Amino acid sequence: MPKTRPFRLPMQNCRKCNRRYQPKRVDQVYCSAECRKEDQAEKFYKTEPEEKVCKHCGSPFLTTAPNKQDYCTSDCQREEARGRAAEVRRKAKEFDRISANGTL
Ligand SMILES: [Zn+2]
Ligand SMILES: [Zn+2]
Repeated sequence: MPKTRPFRLPMQNCRKCNRRYQPKRVDQVYCSAECRKEDQAEKFYKTEPEEKVCKHCGSPFLTTAPNKQDYCTSDCQREEARGRAAEVRRKAKEFDRISANGTL
């Protein structure tokens, strides 16, 4: 029986320092943990905060969130959700009233 050779991935260049290295994992893109850390830190600080206006209270706020938040605080988000639920309830009641009157 032939001996199974240890599986080796092809050499590739580090995404950060561009040095050639032997990856140990298929999804590895940096030659070392240092390179990975540095590159990610750079990316983090590169994201310019975006100024947005809170959809609930209207005050401007800065966000770097990739999902583009719409509210300055989680409190505002909660308040807005509550307000919308109340609006739906109000409309449902109105609909009941109108249909009860037979004007619909
Ligand atoms: Zn590197
Ligand atoms: Zn707000």
